[in-house]
Amino acid sequence: MQIFPSKSECCGCSACKQICPKGAIAMKPDSEGFLYPQIDVSLCIECGACQKICAFQNGYEKNHSKTAYAIKHKDFNTRFTSRSGAVFVALSDYILNKKGSVYGAAFQDDFSVSHIRATDRYVRDKFKGSKYVQSDMKDTFKSVKNDLNNDMYVMFSGTACQVAGLKRYLGKCDTSKLYTCDIACHGVPSPIIWKEYLKHCEKKFCGKVTKADFRDKTIGWNTHKEAIWIDDNKHILNGYTYLFYEDDIERPSCYNCKYSNLDRPADLTLADFWGIDRVVENFNDNKGVSLLLVNSEKGSRILNKVIGNIHCVECDLNASIKSNPNLSCPTAKPDSREDFWDFYYKNGFEKTFKKYYNKIIIKKIKRRIMNKDEVL
Ligand SMILES: Cc1cc2nc3c(=O)[nH]c(=O)nc-3n(C[C@H](O)[C@H](O)[C@H](O)COP(=O)(O)OP(=O)(O)OC[C@H]3O[C@@H](n4cnc5c(N)ncnc54)[C@H](O)[C@@H]3O)c2cc1C
Repeated sequence: MQIFPSKSECCGCSACKQICPKGAIAMKPDSEGFLYPQIDVSLCIECGACQKICAFQNGYEKNHSKTAYAIKHKDFNTRFTSRSGAVFVALSDYILNKKGSVYGAAFQDDFSVSHIRATDRYVRDKFKGSKYVQSDMKDTFKSVKNDLNNDMYVMFSGTACQVAGLKRYLGKCDTSKLYTCDIACHGVPSPIIWKEYLKHCEKKFCGKVTKADFRDKTIGWNTHKEAIWIDDNKHILNGYTYLFYEDDIERPSCYNCKYSNLDRPADLTLADFWGIDRVVENFNDNKGVSLLLVNSEKGSRILNKVIGNIHCVECDLNASIKSNPNLSCPTAKPDSREDFWDFYYKNGFEKTFKKYYNKIIIKKIKRRIMNKDEVL
């Protein structure tokens, strides 16, 4: 039995693994470090549940985005420690206050990223901040179902493909207490490259990684630099960021994303409000503004419940998404992707990083010379 015809048709959401009645499927990393389902044929009964559940190949329940809002959490520190305007914290606080559970992407001890369950603010706060690497779903879909069956309120946050996978997995389960948030997504990078990059930093600065932030806000919300702490000393860097935006390290299915449009799987879509100054005057203080798309009645209801904790301005939908390309189309697969990986397999990370980092710097210098508005 084959679950997916090619790598560009599997987003790794793991719904197939979690639905298998015989536990015959395991998620295993390929040579790029992305997880794919693998069937143990000795356990498989060929029931076809794994093929039927796939939202990426069979489609998903679409909620068309209806309204857009510019949002800033009223608490400055909460906003400062979140990626954009901390709308996610405001929404998930509501669920926690109802003694519900919240699911999201968190760093593990080794700085890999997995989805976990939170029932208090301490654990939920681990979801704050974008982690530019694919999150391992583990068995969170099963856990969401269990919580819903126990009549709990649940909020699930993740990429649109993860939310679509969850919804298909839940099928006819009562989801009246489930609230979903998907994020605008440029594509999820390879966990192997992230791991290699951390090793590179440890070698360069002679110590151990003690903290990581994919996008450090201390120099402003719209500046994209990462911060890596080695033995608690902070280093502001741009190497991983540059690799991310060259698009060679994204999952193959990201270039074939089915969700880069306004037909969203979730009740709410969270994004950075790029281009805010064009849409709302005097709202941007360069500390972070969220763009929130409300895609369902349920999404609208929960937004009304949290309105006291946020500054919120309704905006024109089309104007609001104009500077956010991945809400209109997937990231294009670069011609260089195959060469990047071939070079990495043959030469290892250090040489690959050096080659591609230098190439990016030269490209940026050239663009600067040609008088384009580019910051190194
Ligand atoms: C891989 C990736 C690509 C992104 N691409 C875009 C983009 O193209 N345009 C744009 O506007 N914004 C992008 N974002 C940022 C995203 O829009 C922000 O997470 C969002 O603005 C929420 O901001 P906040 O301040 O409310 O959230 P925060 O409080 O910072 O919460 C972050 C939320 O993101 C989730 N999350 C973090 N990392 C991951 C991950 N690896 N996988 C799944 N979920 C994760 C958490 O579960 C949490 O719900 C991207 C984020 C990621 C992780």
